[in-house]
Amino acid sequence: MKKLDIRSICVFCGAAKGNNPLFEESARRLGALLAQNGITLVFGGGNAGLMAAVANEALAGGGEVIGVIPDYLVEREHGHRKVTRLDVVDSMHERKRRMFDLADGFISLPGGVGTLEETFEVITWKQLDMHVKPIAIIDVAGYWQNLDGLIAATVEHGFAAPPTRALYRLVATPEDALDALREDAVAGLPTDPAKL
Ligand code: AMP
Repeated sequence: MKKLDIRSICVFCGAAKGNNPLFEESARRLGALLAQNGITLVFGGGNAGLMAAVANEALAGGGEVIGVIPDYLVEREHGHRKVTRLDVVDSMHERKRRMFDLADGFISLPGGVGTLEETFEVITWKQLDMHVKPIAIIDVAGYWQNLDGLIAATVEHGFAAPPTRALYRLVATPEDALDALREDAVAGLPTDPAKL
């Protein structure tokens, strides 16, 4: 499998901050870490919640930040005006496609249904062999245990092959997430669960 450099990472996370200070702390740490490593942050372009925390910290560290936001959400999600580049697109589908194309890998922090949907989409696309990009989910304060359990249930009940859980990595910290992405990008994950 060809070696892939991680030059840009798409981060999915809440447009709210959540009610545990550890969520925002992790978001800020991740933003700082991306800047320190010269990795471009690709995100939903909003200036609120954890999305703002990651982006502002990456910008403060001198990092490159690309926001991608549909025109009808610019006001509602407080389109971030200080990013390196804000791509205003026509639809949610275009947003997700552009974020996907711009990223060498994906990291999810805690978030709401928007974050769940985005995370599931890159996992399912990977299951369908549409890409081999690495995915890490940062399990801040056990936030993602339910999702991991639900995916385990799909296997347990015969709706998915056991390797489905290998399509993503559940990790503890932003540092672990970056390490996981780099490891998986180097090793190259098999993409078809049936072939694992
Ligand atoms: P949330 O995690 O619900 O706070 O949403 C985080 C981001 O996910 C927001 O920027 C949403 O616009 C975005 N998002 C992406 N896909 C969807 C979707 N299908 N429904 C709602 N939000 C979405």
